[in-house]
Amino acid sequence: MSGVAIIGGGPAGLSAAIYTARADKRTLVFDDGGGTTRDVSRMENVYGFPDGVTGPELVEVGQEHAEKYGAERISEEVVHIERTDDGFRVETTVDEYAVDGVILATGADYERPAIADVEAYEGQGVSYCVECDAYFYRDRPVAVVGNGNYAATEALMLLDYTDDVRLLTNGDEFDADPELQAKVDAAEIPVRTDRLDQLVGDDGLEGIVTTDGETIAVDGLFVALGTAGGTDLAEMLGIPVDGDEIVTEPDQSTTVDRVYAAGDATGGHQQIATSVGEGARAAINLLEAFRGADYVDYKKVPA
Ligand SMILES: Cc1cc2nc3c(=O)[nH]c(=O)nc-3n(C[C@H](O)[C@H](O)[C@H](O)COP(=O)(O)OP(=O)(O)OC[C@H]3O[C@@H](n4cnc5c(N)ncnc54)[C@H](O)[C@@H]3O)c2cc1C
Repeated sequence: MSGVAIIGGGPAGLSAAIYTARADKRTLVFDDGGGTTRDVSRMENVYGFPDGVTGPELVEVGQEHAEKYGAERISEEVVHIERTDDGFRVETTVDEYAVDGVILATGADYERPAIADVEAYEGQGVSYCVECDAYFYRDRPVAVVGNGNYAATEALMLLDYTDDVRLLTNGDEFDADPELQAKVDAAEIPVRTDRLDQLVGDDGLEGIVTTDGETIAVDGLFVALGTAGGTDLAEMLGIPVDGDEIVTEPDQSTTVDRVYAAGDATGGHQQIATSVGEGARAAINLLEAFRGADYVDYKKVPA
C-alpha cells in the first residue's frame, strides 16, 4: 500500500487521519489552509470542551493528534484527482501523489459567481465540472470564470476539447502560481479582467455581458471559483453529487471503490461532532476495504 490521501484538514479529515495513521497506513492530509472550521470564532457544543473552543484551536489540536501517529500534513491545494490502474493519482499545484485510497473531507463548497441569471443557465451553458461537460462544447467557444490555481487548471484542461478558451477573473488581477501562469501564457489562453454583469442567450447560453456593455460570445461557461471543492474532485472521479453535496452511503462510501467522503462535503447536519464521526466512519470502512483486498490476495497465494 502506498497510502491514503485525505483531502481536507478540518475535523472530518483529521479525525479520519487519526484512524488511518494509527492503523499504520501512510496518511497524507492535504490542507490548503482554508475550510469553515478555521473561520469559526467560538463553539460551545463541541464534545470535550465545556468552556468552548475556537475553530483554529480545534484544527491545531486535531493536527497535533493526527501527526503524533505519523499523519503527514501536506499544505498544498489539490487541483485534480483520477483513478489509475492500481489506485489514484492526486495532483496538487506543486506535486503528484500515488495512493491506494481517498477520503474526501473538503468541507462545503459550490460557490456561484456573482453574475445575473447564472442559476437560470445551469445545465444550459453554465457548468461546474469540466470533466462532466466539456465534451458537449468540443470546438466551441467557452470561458472559465474564476481566478487562481483551480481556474487556471480548468482552463488548461478545456484545451483538450476546444482551442477557443478564455479565462475571466471577473474584475480581479489574474493570480495563480507562477508555473500555472506560465502554462496559461504558453497556451495563449486570453485572460480578461472585465467585471461580468449578466448572461444572455435565448436557447441556452450565447454570451456574457460585461459591466461595460460588451458581450463575450461563448457557448459554455465553466465556474471554477476558489479552490477545487469536494464536489469538483468527486465529479472528476465520476462520483454523483447532489447540488453541493457528495452522495455517500451510510458507511460514507461513494460509488467508487476505496473513495469515501465525510463532513460538511456530504451535507447532513454539518456540525463538528457529525464531521468527526463521519471522518472516523470513513476511515474505519476504508481500512476494512483494504483488509478485504489483502484477504483476497492472501487466498490467492498457493499453499
Ligand atoms: C459561522 C459558523 C459557526 C459554526 N458554529 C458551529 C458550532 O458552534 N458547533 C458546531 O459543531 N459546528 C459549527 N459550525 C459548523 C462547523 O464549522 C462545520 O460543520 C465543520 O467546520 C466542518 O468540518 P469539515 O472538516 O467537514 O470541513 P472544513 O472545516 O471546512 O475543512 C475542510 C478542509 O478541506 C481543505 N480543502 C478543501 N478543498 C481543498 C483542496 N482542493 N485542496 C486541499 N485542501 C482542501 C480545507 O483547507 C480544510 O482544511 C459552524 C459553521 C459556521 C459557518
